[in-house]
Amino acid sequence: MLFRSVTLLLAVCCSDARSASAQLAPPQTDALSRLQAAQNSAACSPAEASSCAQIAAKLMPVILGDSPMVENLRRLTDEVGGRVTGTPRMAEAVAWGVAGFRAAGVNVITEKYTLPATWAEGATRLTISAPASAASPNAALRAVSEAWAPATPRDGIEASVVDVADGSEAEMSRAGSMKGAILLVHTDIGSSWTDLFREYLLPPAIIARAVKAGAAAILWTGARERLLLYRHTNSLDGEIDKIPQAVVAREDALRLARLVAASPGKVRVRLSLPNEIGGPVQQENVVGEIRGYERPDEAVILAAHLDSWELGTGALDDGCNAALVIEAARAIKATGVLPRRTIRFVLFTGEEQGTIGSHAYVKAHSGELDKIRAVIVFDSGSGRVSGYSLGGRTDTEASLRQILKPLDSWGAANDTADASFGDDSFDFLLEGVPTFVANQEIANYLVNYHAASDTFDKVDQRELKMNTVIAALTVWGIADRAEPVGKRLTHPEVDALLKRTGLDRQMQLLGYWEQWQAGDRGRQP
Ligand SMILES: [Zn+2]
Repeated sequence: MLFRSVTLLLAVCCSDARSASAQLAPPQTDALSRLQAAQNSAACSPAEASSCAQIAAKLMPVILGDSPMVENLRRLTDEVGGRVTGTPRMAEAVAWGVAGFRAAGVNVITEKYTLPATWAEGATRLTISAPASAASPNAALRAVSEAWAPATPRDGIEASVVDVADGSEAEMSRAGSMKGAILLVHTDIGSSWTDLFREYLLPPAIIARAVKAGAAAILWTGARERLLLYRHTNSLDGEIDKIPQAVVAREDALRLARLVAASPGKVRVRLSLPNEIGGPVQQENVVGEIRGYERPDEAVILAAHLDSWELGTGALDDGCNAALVIEAARAIKATGVLPRRTIRFVLFTGEEQGTIGSHAYVKAHSGELDKIRAVIVFDSGSGRVSGYSLGGRTDTEASLRQILKPLDSWGAANDTADASFGDDSFDFLLEGVPTFVANQEIANYLVNYHAASDTFDKVDQRELKMNTVIAALTVWGIADRAEPVGKRLTHPEVDALLKRTGLDRQMQLLGYWEQWQAGDRGRQP
């Protein structure tokens, strides 16, 4: 998952210029560390930008040369495959992550948290039962269950179809009685970040209206053409959703809409969603670590999510960046140069269910958030990095640009001061921790989003390697700077940021705002 409101992107200046820690190895205090401390005083700062140039020169041959990253990704996607949090495949992926960090030569642990429910799709079926002329011979419509949707009764739900157009309040009141009906909601074809963002922001209100009206189920018109099905979820807290829902292949859904228009009130379908639901269950985030030589209790996090949906194999979303995080760890370790602060390389799980794993991490580490100096997230496939989304801030940009100065010619300085939900930086942002989410060219990310076509062959291996250099230098530079890259914001400062960026309105639509206001989520007043 990663969705971003492009309409809210505000370009800022593009300057030229643990609880868990007890289980990890003690800080190094050997002669080498002291030597590096001397060498690195004022590293990656205006006074001495050359140390970032030196580390960049060491990282590049390691990452751009012969590397295990692509083979790691092939095994994750082709052999582990799609990995839904709470399933046995997720456990295999966690083992892949642990083995990857060990092979990279860094310490690794896993940290447990509770996923509220497990979910697996059964043999979804959607068939036209009336009128008879439409039911034969092409009764079956191509559909998949919404993720975390409840199961229907064993033999499905048979009901008349009510077309509610875009599901807006006006259209739904115009549609008349929806009691016991199966609603058909139209969607636009998704081709931009803004479209994707709307796919998440619009449904909660539609679902609320459908439940209030006593509807039996919702069919969503697929937002991709050519019968491409994809896994979507409207439950963003890991709980089972309120009403059965399915995504119907766009061409089949449009046919159904035409049938309803031709015979109003006479079209009936049978929807069967024998989803398998269980839990709650314990899941794990994977955390690799390189200890800082001077301030090992302060940490900078580089993260991607390890889980994925399972129609495809989660290559663009977000397997390639899970491989990137492990590769960044390997490369930094291979330079033999320790950073001043600790670097944590985190593979979060439960992301697709609503950033459950990173939310749990933030809660578990609440006592050390003052010392988590920054969080860097990669979650948009293998499109070229154009800069970073700065989580609604501008104070962190000058330092970031000093760190990335060795890569000035790469065209990766288009930072933006927007803030968004829907990736693993969200709960860190709410806690006031500086966040950096890679801005990436959309490339082939959206056309394969959560779909059967999100497979290894879609990953641009060359761009992935270049992006890994950027990620590794960013996290190393922030960890090694004499000064923190930015302060931790107070509750009023975060509150102002949310309102300034419009993230408050998005949080209201998604049900997060009440949690923030009640102090249940984010920095305490
Ligand atoms: Zn993702």
